[in-house]
Amino acid sequence: MDFKSYIREINDFPVPGISFKDITTLLQNGAVYKEAINEMARRLKEVEIDCIAGPEARGFVIGAPLAYALGVGFIPIRKSGKLPGETIEADYALEYGKDKLAMHKDAIKLGQKVLIADDLLATGGTIATSINLIEQLGGEVVGATFLIELLELRGRDKLGSIDIISLVTY
Ligand code: IMP
Repeated sequence: MDFKSYIREINDFPVPGISFKDITTLLQNGAVYKEAINEMARRLKEVEIDCIAGPEARGFVIGAPLAYALGVGFIPIRKSGKLPGETIEADYALEYGKDKLAMHKDAIKLGQKVLIADDLLATGGTIATSINLIEQLGGEVVGATFLIELLELRGRDKLGSIDIISLVTY
């Protein structure tokens, strides 16, 4: 399926010079959203996964249905101050800003194989920080999957040797 044709590009959002890839136009089409998740699930068939972790907020939109499709658990990676239990936190830089990510200390069991899911790989800062948190908790990150990868920003260079699956590239 031509997923790219369902993604809208909005120039100068959220700051001048950024061409924002807006996936809401893909998500609002039930058949296309479903096929995108199913296609990811198909490509992950051979990868052994115990759970999926996704960063707030669009990582939930991809990660949770993918976890459901694969029959594994979903672990939210949230902005600082949102999770109610004991957490660990790490600073991270975005393509256009800075923030802090957090995970529950008991979210992952030692040695669990974790797949990270998000809507888009840009500079790789979000996912590198997610990997850092998961590894601190004793998890093994086996791969990462994205709806979109912005190749020019070379985010995958920050992610070591894990498997990376992207449905659409720009
Ligand atoms: P990175 O940390 O630089 O790889 O940025 C990826 C994160 O920023 C993802 O969680 C995305 O949701 C968000 N992001 C960056 N650029 C875009 C975009 O063009 N469209 C949608 N989300 C974006």
